[in-house]
Amino acid sequence: MQIEENVPLAPLTTLGVGGNARYLVEVRSEPEAHEALSLASERNLPLFILGGGSNVVIGDRGFAGLALKMSIRGVEEGWENGHRLFWVGAGEPWDPFVVRTVVDGLAGLVLLSGIPGTVGGTPIQNVGAYGAEVARSIRAVRAIDRRDGRVVEIPAAACSFSYRRSIFNTEEKGRYLVLAVCYSLSKEENPELGYPDLLSVFSRKGNRPSLPELREEVLRIRRSKAMVVMADEEDSRSVGSFFKNPVLDPTAFVELRRRAERLGLTPPSYPADDGKQKVPAAWLLENAGFPKGLRRGSVGISRRHALAIVNRGGATAAEIVAFMEEIKGAVEATFAIRLKPEPVFVGFDTP
Ligand SMILES: Cc1cc2nc3c(=O)[nH]c(=O)nc-3n(C[C@H](O)[C@H](O)[C@H](O)COP(=O)(O)OP(=O)(O)OC[C@H]3O[C@@H](n4cnc5c(N)ncnc54)[C@H](O)[C@@H]3O)c2cc1C
Repeated sequence: MQIEENVPLAPLTTLGVGGNARYLVEVRSEPEAHEALSLASERNLPLFILGGGSNVVIGDRGFAGLALKMSIRGVEEGWENGHRLFWVGAGEPWDPFVVRTVVDGLAGLVLLSGIPGTVGGTPIQNVGAYGAEVARSIRAVRAIDRRDGRVVEIPAAACSFSYRRSIFNTEEKGRYLVLAVCYSLSKEENPELGYPDLLSVFSRKGNRPSLPELREEVLRIRRSKAMVVMADEEDSRSVGSFFKNPVLDPTAFVELRRRAERLGLTPPSYPADDGKQKVPAAWLLENAGFPKGLRRGSVGISRRHALAIVNRGGATAAEIVAFMEEIKGAVEATFAIRLKPEPVFVGFDTP
């Protein structure tokens, strides 16, 4: 295992901002993962685990500790109660794994095609798109518990998955180094085509799509929104959606409607659990004065997706954060809603 010093982190992320890691190690096996953790604790260095860097904002001063680049590869297959099991190394890139399952006629992950990042990153925020979430297909997560250095297998039921949440980004944040994720998939599953864009295409075509057709359609929609990372596509220099869709209790929802009505607007909403309503953050941004394509120097809103803050070239993390705060302030002043950012902030004074 090689320890590198003063390594620029920006090129290892999709947003492309931020400074250097004081140390960086690339971990390719479980023994190396243990070695890296020991190194961090022996030298008393804070640790940051980096997957594909598609959901992180690195501060301009960088990270004054050890960045562990997760690169454990490999897929082991098995069977359980008629389900195919895939134990996938945390450093495997996500989308090629999705391709493999689609080729095998397994539908469980097809709607999650085209999402950047690693397999190890998927349980952290319970990755989701077009009505699907990884929570539905994860059977267990294999990880090192950093409290005692032991390897544990955490069943999905103990991961407390919900919308963009799990124990890994809430109550147990920072506790586990994910080594592998076990996906359980079945040929019996059918993808739910509830998402309006998909529904309209396939109801127009009048037939149920094959899995490869469905994947292509998902990718087509994602590309049209710059939600697939492409080197020559400025609008994909982002972390995807920058804000979570707020889930409002009835009182907050009534207040939103009242404020929207005064502006002659009706907010779109979808029923969520416990009588709550999920409101598209993109709608809030657009109606608080932040339309697609808006520019603020080197940063701005994607021309193709109202929820993506993009680095238009040469942006600093400070500019990204200032823009984020400006948006949050405007949405709160207009609609009395505090937006929560989706990405993880690394190397900032306040987390
Ligand atoms: C263009 C674009 C489109 C996107 N679309 C979507 C989408 O449709 N749906 C969606 O949910 N997300 C989306 N995202 C966000 C992102 O791709 C996902 O959250 C992805 O799962 C992050 O994985 P990563 O490996 O890049 O993690 P990173 O960004 O490297 O890390 C994110 C967090 O996970 C932690 N982490 C990563 N790997 C491990 C590990 N092995 N062990 C412990 N902790 C770990 C990191 O420490 C960090 O806290 C999009 C991003 C972009 C840029």
